[in-house]
Parts: sequence; C-alpha cells; structure tokens
Amino acid sequence: MSSTQSPRPQRPSQTKIVATLGPASSGKDKLPELLTAGVDVFRINMAHGSRAEHQTVLAAIRTAAAAAGHTVAVLVDLAGPKIRLGELPDGKLTCDAGDRLRFIRGQISEVPEELTTTYEPLVDELEPGDRVMLADGTVSLVVEEKGDDFAQCKVVQPGLIRSRQGVNLPGVKLSVEALGPVDRENAVWAAKNDIDFVGLSFVRSADEIRSLQSLLELHGPTNRDRRAHVIAKIEKPEALDNLQEIVEAADAVMVARGDLGVEIDIARVAVVQKEIIAVCNRCRKPVITATQMLDSMQHSRIPTRAEVTDVANAILDGTDACMLSGETAIGKYPRETVEMMHRIALATEPMCRERNHHGEPDLTAEGVNAITEQIVYSAGRMAEQLDAKLVVVATTSGSTALALAKHRNYVPTVGVSSSPATLRRMCPYWGVIPLPGAPVGDSTALLRYITEMGRSAGILDPGDRLVLIAGTGLATTAHNMVVVHELE
Ligand code: PGA
Ligand code: MN
Repeated sequence: MSSTQSPRPQRPSQTKIVATLGPASSGKDKLPELLTAGVDVFRINMAHGSRAEHQTVLAAIRTAAAAAGHTVAVLVDLAGPKIRLGELPDGKLTCDAGDRLRFIRGQISEVPEELTTTYEPLVDELEPGDRVMLADGTVSLVVEEKGDDFAQCKVVQPGLIRSRQGVNLPGVKLSVEALGPVDRENAVWAAKNDIDFVGLSFVRSADEIRSLQSLLELHGPTNRDRRAHVIAKIEKPEALDNLQEIVEAADAVMVARGDLGVEIDIARVAVVQKEIIAVCNRCRKPVITATQMLDSMQHSRIPTRAEVTDVANAILDGTDACMLSGETAIGKYPRETVEMMHRIALATEPMCRERNHHGEPDLTAEGVNAITEQIVYSAGRMAEQLDAKLVVVATTSGSTALALAKHRNYVPTVGVSSSPATLRRMCPYWGVIPLPGAPVGDSTALLRYITEMGRSAGILDPGDRLVLIAGTGLATTAHNMVVVHELE
C-alpha cells in the first residue's frame, strides 16, 4: 500500500508463502522476482553453503526487500541432529534386496559396502532389529549383527544411495544432542544478524526449543521480546508424542513432511499434518506446511493435480503458510512456482471463508491472553458485519496480530508496529499484511494516516468503515481497544 512499494501483480493471498533460497533463486536478479511473485518469508537452509555465502544471501535479501519496499522475514533453518552418509567410494551405490552393508566408524570408506556417517556413535547405538532408512526413505535396511566397530545391515527395500544423503532411524532413540556445535554457531550468527525466525530440525522435546530460545536471547538484541522466534520442525515420532508441549514452547511450527514421511509411516502423513495444524491453531501458533508441495515444478511449468490439491488442502486444514523447498532452491521455475502457489491460495481462500465459522474465542490453550482473544474475535466479527473495508491491527510484539490471524477474518487486514522486527515477524501470519511507516504512538494520528493512505491508494472512499485494533502498548490506559471509524 505504501507509495514506496512496487506493486505486486495481483492482490496478496492471505496464505503466506515461504521460499527456500538456493542457486536457482538467491541471485540479485532473482530475489526481486520472487518478492513480486508473493514471497513473504525467505528460508536459508544451513544444511547447505558456507558462512560467507549465507552472509551474502542475507545482504541480498535485505537489499531486494528495501528496494521493493516490501516487508519480508528471514528464516534460518538449522540442520539439527540430522545424520548424513559420508562419502561413498564411488559417489553412489546400488543396493539390491538382501545385500549386506556395514556402518563403520570413522570418516573414510574404501569399500563400497562400508558406509560412514556424520554421527560417530552410530555403530554403538544401533541394535539388531533397528531400521535404517536412506535416500529419503526409498531404501531401507535392517540391522542384523553388531561388532565392536561395525553394525551390519541387510537391504530390505532396494534402491540407489548417494554420498551425503540423510540417514533416518525411525524409532531409534539416539543420544545425539539437539544443538550440535555447528547449529550453535549458526544460531549465534542468526541472533547477531537480526534474523526473524530460526528453525530447529528433528525436535524431540520442549526443552530443546527452550534451550535454543535461551541461546538466541543470550546473543541477540537486549530486548528479550526481540529475539528470533523459534520454529519447531515436527519430523520425529518423539515430537508427535510431545506435540502439545512442543507447540506451547515454540514460537511457530513447521509440518516438516520430508523427514516426517520417513520417520513415521508415510501413509499417516496427511492425518498427522491435520493434527499438528489443529494443535497449532488452538495454541495460537503460526504453522507452516512444508516439503514437496509443488515438487514436480522443479522440472515443469505446471504442477500435478495432486500437488495443486495438496496445497489447497493444507490451506483448508488451516495452515498459515506453505513452503517451497527444492522448487525455489534448485528448480528450473522458481518464479512460476511461487506464482502458482499464490494462484492456488487465491482460488482456495473463498472456500475457507464459506467453511469458516469464526473460531470462538478459545481460552483453554496455554499462553492465550483472554482479553486479546475476546477483542480480536469481536473486532473480526464487527468488521465483517459492518462490511468494513479494512482492519488495522497495531501491535507491539505481534501477538495481537497473530491472535487475529487465527480467527481467519476475511476483511483485508494490515498490521502496524513501531518495530521493524515485529513487522517482519508478522510475515507468516495468515491474512496480515505488514505495513511499515505508520505512526502507531497515537490512535488519532494512526487513523488519519491510514485513511489518507487508503484514499490515495483508491481503497477507501467516503462512507467506508475501518476497524482499528490497538494491542498492548499503544494506548497506555487500555490493554486492548477497538475503534470503528467511518470515513467522512
Ligand atoms: P528439511 O526440512 O528440508 O530441512 O529436511 C523439511 C522437511 O523435512 O520436510
Ligand atoms: Mn527435515
């Protein structure tokens, strides 16, 4: 809306889009395209690239966002206790059913059938009967025999494996720490670089989330509220066992279907996705649905019908944001993929609206503020029933905007804040458009600013109504307040 913003081609979708950056998208020429196509959050995957490369990409994001006048958030995704294969002597290996493979200690293997991993104690922690999944779950092994320096496995499901691919051990309890030295270094880098969201892979407990939050607090801005928000990536059975607790501890959540589909029975991915999203919505936590959403668009301009349906269903399940991974990181058509996701969202959102019966204020979930809940619930209803053209939510930490987003209000909504970090934090919140530059210190000035802006942008006319929700901190005497304004 601001005059400094370059126009996005269509109206923004209420569902937010997270795009993973990689060689296909992180260049200075590509980032503006993706911004224009509708990306709200850029994800830097720390599993790839060097510190210097991450720093360059971060600078490029900030330059592109500033040039376009868009508010975008940055998500730094930590690899967590992800175990990878070492180098295979031939780079790859065909595993036939019944073949014997051995996990051995150390870094180097000279025999094709001997596999090394990035996790030293693996040989000690595997037990006969344990399953080992390779190549994204396409190849499976079972441990048969253990020696002092090896664990021998039989190939159950055959296939091709390659150097450095992920190793998944569904159901095997490993002693590996949630935040290894590399993750810690990356988290400190994120804190020092004012990153908005930090993702933690393979989360197993709420304590792991809390320890990352403390680390970010320790190395981040002095104001605790401004530390990076932690996204719990749900991709282990242990995380499902502790789901409620993890969601309550986390600042946001990702349904990480890639590893989840290997760690649990792949047939359960859809129902588990619905369950995770439901818990997040009850606890008023932003939730991102990730992996293979438009996978075939890595090579094709048109997605499959199943993928289009998958994106739409995630939106109907109540996800706040959808994520693109390989599609934007290494795919041939990053811009087209973002545009497609945006189109699917626009085509689906009217149905969410029909189905939506305004989630009643839910005061049962941990961390939900009763006053904020009632205010955003009532304000959202008022806006719809008064046919308001715009809802404006002024928020200090972003929590009032998030609570509002969870009620799935269909009136266009802008979030304003005096803090640029809060504006970026709102990027994944469903239906909330962060608007920089508004004077939030006093509600009269804010209303005047918004009306003038709306008028000059042709969005607001005399007689139009707008609803202003002011969160904690705007008015000193009230915790939250609602103003309904009719333009003269
Ligand atoms: P990853 O996480 O891409 O970092 O593995 C997402 C997922 O597993 O779905
Ligand atoms: Mn993962």
